[in-house]
Amino acid sequence: MEETTDINRELMLDANATAGLLYEIFGVEMTASPTECVHCGNEGEIGGLLAFTQGPGIVLRCSACENVVLRIVQTPEAIYLDARGAVYLRLER
Ligand SMILES: [Zn+2]
Repeated sequence: MEETTDINRELMLDANATAGLLYEIFGVEMTASPTECVHCGNEGEIGGLLAFTQGPGIVLRCSACENVVLRIVQTPEAIYLDARGAVYLRLER
């Protein structure tokens, strides 16, 4: 079977569920921070991304095109952040 962009919404997390983890990584409140999707150019708040837990870690997808914007994987030693899908991340001073 070919993998489609169909998303299992039952695996969806509330965006607030990831807020604590993002705070842990960046040290600032991130849910209201703007970001832009590499894939479709959609701009929005990080809190508006679709959050999923599938496989190891948390995947945040664009609410417009559903492509991956951010991926966060935690190990006992470190937190890995894959932000390839974001044009930028904005951290409030
Ligand atoms: Zn997009």
